Amino acid sequence: MKKDNVTILGGGLCGSLLSIMLARRGIKVTLLERRADPRKDGGEAGRSINLVMSARGMRALRHAGVFEKIEPLLIPMQGRLIHDVDGETELHPYGQDDSEVIYSVSRAALNRELIDCADSSSNVSIRFQHECVSYYPEEATLRVRDHLKDTDYDIKARPLIAADGAGSRVRRAFNNTGTLSGSEELLGHSYKELAIPGGPDGKFQMSPDALHIWPRGGYMLIALPNPGGDFTLTLFFPAEGDPSFLSLNSDKKVTAFFKEQFADAVPLIENLTDSWNRNPVGILGTVRCKHWHEGGNLLLIGDAAHAVVPFHGQGMNLAFEDCVILDQVLDNPDADWETVFRVFETEQLANANAIADMALENYIEMRDTVRDPKYRLRRELSFELERRMPKRFIPRYSMIMFHDEIPYSVAQERGLAQHNLLVGLTENVDSIDEIDIDEAVRFVASRLPPIH
Ligand SMILES: Cc1cc2nc3c(=O)[nH]c(=O)nc-3n(C[C@H](O)[C@H](O)[C@H](O)COP(=O)(O)OP(=O)(O)OC[C@H]3O[C@@H](n4cnc5c(N)ncnc54)[C@H](O)[C@@H]3O)c2cc1C
Repeated sequence: MKKDNVTILGGGLCGSLLSIMLARRGIKVTLLERRADPRKDGGEAGRSINLVMSARGMRALRHAGVFEKIEPLLIPMQGRLIHDVDGETELHPYGQDDSEVIYSVSRAALNRELIDCADSSSNVSIRFQHECVSYYPEEATLRVRDHLKDTDYDIKARPLIAADGAGSRVRRAFNNTGTLSGSEELLGHSYKELAIPGGPDGKFQMSPDALHIWPRGGYMLIALPNPGGDFTLTLFFPAEGDPSFLSLNSDKKVTAFFKEQFADAVPLIENLTDSWNRNPVGILGTVRCKHWHEGGNLLLIGDAAHAVVPFHGQGMNLAFEDCVILDQVLDNPDADWETVFRVFETEQLANANAIADMALENYIEMRDTVRDPKYRLRRELSFELERRMPKRFIPRYSMIMFHDEIPYSVAQERGLAQHNLLVGLTENVDSIDEIDIDEAVRFVASRLPPIH
């Protein structure tokens, strides 16, 4: 069965990487993608321009044998550089040392490379500008619009792996059937992208080795570096209320608001009001399902199965981890597709739910809690505990970003237990010097088992 022809819907980040992995196994893949070939086109407007890549994503690229091609695209970021309202900045390192960093990567460049790698395999046939317009579960059939010829055709797609993103048509074809029980929960906050161009000689106008954050309590602005010396800024902001995307409805209001809240960024931003008016407002939300597969006919994967809000920079990393897990399940030569899909779901569903929750929590941390002195104290103590007992205490952020061997669900569970210990240990103190670290280590060891 493993040599069946598999149809993958969606040649985004997940679909293209999965094609590479399946093709390496000798599985023939037909990849359907509604957009034009990104190697010829500039990429999709309005999607986030750059993404955070961390250990799970990099492990998947290595697993697929394509890491060397992607590595040159990665820009390391060693911490969060917090910009306060007065323009003062403070670096909060992400990890213990230079090995614990995260990376900024261009979505378009990454997608182009992955498509190129998939296309170079004789086992992968890619049809660009072929869009699924309907899916008929009873017949396991896709209706596809060929935009090049302006015609529709049906294909039997069994098995079908749907990697068609957060708004998945395939997932929605099951709405009200109880088979997948998918839900889409919109966040009340949306986002808009702006840019800081490279300075003279293409030099970065801010430090390129950090993820910049302007945390303002109810909202935040962030900036990630791009290889060309520019930064992509993203404002995460309420959709309604005051202030909100709705209330900033004139150039004057936008300019006044930015000058008040992000004064140090304003002189660097390229055509603030033009960009504000031109760039779309993107929506954010969480997709959860009770099931990701229908027998051996269909599997949802990536955002189609579990879109998460972007505040932990994990949506793509999780989608890439999906590909690794599915590929590992395929190692069993006796398993049929139904078994493969069921085992995959059993292994990964709880993890997707865990990172969905933690991503929502991290929005509050990034836009607000980072400013709290107690938060900083807990962070400092957590790094110290990790140095003293690295097999037992690893900060939750590090478990998620640097430890791909720790499942998200374990990070969530241990993260909560660790948080409660940290709150207790820092309750009546203002500085780490006031804490008896040996005593704290003994206390933690008595409450927290080692990580297996
Ligand atoms: C603002 C923002 C910032 C983000 N930042 C990060 C980050 O820093 N780090 C991170 O890990 N993740 C991040 N993410 C999440 C990340 O973008 C997604 O998790 C990732 O793109 C999921 O990949 P995918 O292939 O499942 O879906 P997509 O990338 O959405 O790809 C789906 C593909 O399917 C195609 N398609 C859709 N419908 C059809 C159809 N009917 N027929 C044919 N083709 C179709 C689309 O054209 C697309 O190519 C961010 C998301 C947002 C919105």
